[in-house]
Amino acid sequence: MNGQEQGSAIRINQEGYAAGLPVHAAVLAEGRVTLRDETGRTVREIDVKPPETDAASGDRVALVNLGRLGEGVYTLSAGGAAQTIRVRKDPWRAVTDGMIKGLYFQRCGCELPARYAGPYRHPACHTAEVSGWEDRSLRRKVPGGWHDAGDYGKYVGPGAVTAAHLIYAWKLFPDGCSDDLDIPETGNGVPDILNETRYELDWMLRMQREDGAFYHKLTKDHFAPFIMPQDDTEPEYLMPVSHCATAAACACLALAARAYRAYDADFCERALRSALQAWEWLRANPEFIPYRNPEGVRTGWYGDRSDADERFWAACELYAATGENEYREAAEALYAQGMQLIQFGWADVGGLGALCCLFDLRERAGDILYGALREDFLRQSEEGLAWSRQSGYGTSLAPDRYIWGSILPIMSHAMAMILNARLTGREDMRDAALIQWDYALGLNALDLCFVTGFGERRVMHPHHRPSEADGVSDPVPGLISGGPNKGFPYPFTRDRLKDRPPAKSYLDETPSADTNEIAIYWNSPAIFVGAYFRSSVRGK
Ligand SMILES: [Zn+2]
Repeated sequence: MNGQEQGSAIRINQEGYAAGLPVHAAVLAEGRVTLRDETGRTVREIDVKPPETDAASGDRVALVNLGRLGEGVYTLSAGGAAQTIRVRKDPWRAVTDGMIKGLYFQRCGCELPARYAGPYRHPACHTAEVSGWEDRSLRRKVPGGWHDAGDYGKYVGPGAVTAAHLIYAWKLFPDGCSDDLDIPETGNGVPDILNETRYELDWMLRMQREDGAFYHKLTKDHFAPFIMPQDDTEPEYLMPVSHCATAAACACLALAARAYRAYDADFCERALRSALQAWEWLRANPEFIPYRNPEGVRTGWYGDRSDADERFWAACELYAATGENEYREAAEALYAQGMQLIQFGWADVGGLGALCCLFDLRERAGDILYGALREDFLRQSEEGLAWSRQSGYGTSLAPDRYIWGSILPIMSHAMAMILNARLTGREDMRDAALIQWDYALGLNALDLCFVTGFGERRVMHPHHRPSEADGVSDPVPGLISGGPNKGFPYPFTRDRLKDRPPAKSYLDETPSADTNEIAIYWNSPAIFVGAYFRSSVRGK
């Protein structure tokens, strides 16, 4: 981007559109918008009102709804510019599958052979025994898991949230997930999205202390330079346990114990036992102590203000897994304190508890966790729709909310709107969620597809160590960038962006971690959204 104004006067989903779903485009021109089919016949003509200035981007832009289109290749023209619009039956298979495969590329502790990784192959990394940070006499092998983001750390809370997004994507939209992702487990009779998730879950089980608590993270004391993972051989440590990591792992493993029941009974038993031990530790340690990096540790903090939402999610999942009233009562008591139900990120996980209650427990959850919670959820999820309607691009984010990883609140809103649409059948919610999916794939103020390896105008220089160090010019594919961040730019970014508006505060440059890092828990909500839209068009 280099801070310059660029891009087409027409912004579209660069991966194309689905037959049967509305087609949206953003037009930065006044006058008439014309859509022609392959024969040149005009199929739509829309007079765009003089566009208003979009507060987040500063662009004069109008969001145009072209309605449902049949399969084909169309040309959209406006203000002297033209874009090709491709409408297909199942257009988002490659990008949704690609983002799950993106997590395969984050695998730690195993070789990524050319057979599955192509030019992104590398030998096994981070295989050495690790020690405890507080107790150096503690020595353990803790292989596996996904590298969290652009760095090589592995963090329990973010991993738990990522795994939960994937498991719920499979539970709710099984036909939105392909089973031929070309990963080592492909063809083993387990859906590939669960195969990939299992790689993280097996690691998570190893991150539990004997007393049931979970170590917050497994990292070095500082971030590695931009080297390949197998060359990052300095010692790693089990950092202190934390309430949030323990509660998030408890929830995620209780969910896994249900999800994998048909595939691996032994694993489910281990996962549930681990979740119950975690819950016992939380009961014995009721006072929340926020995690802080020990002195001398400078890797990701992932701090949190409260563990009430993590405990709430854990109680919901344990109730779903065991049916025991103790967990329902715990969830009800936590819910009564007030709960954000549309948050699906690593810090705020109330939305995952809501998902469990509304879609898995349903009426079994009772008057509070289904009846009252459903009303609460529907009311809260209006927020995403309201923000989408106020944005020139239809983006579900207030102009002052472009934070580090702005893709997360945007995808979280899309998740909430999808769940609302599933509960109520509301098409306005579904269509607004679709516009967030379009945002991720190019319908945005940057005219950029945020997923590496996809789209015509794509991210090329993510803050991602292997992508920089592997000698391959294209970045590792299937990873979604955090996107514009006005809130807290690093000096590198701030110096280059200066007075850029929030939705354009982005640099496709490797050092710009605050706008162009990737993260497993940004891929996963996008996978959830992609799986939903794939399943909604494949069923037709
Ligand atoms: Zn590794």
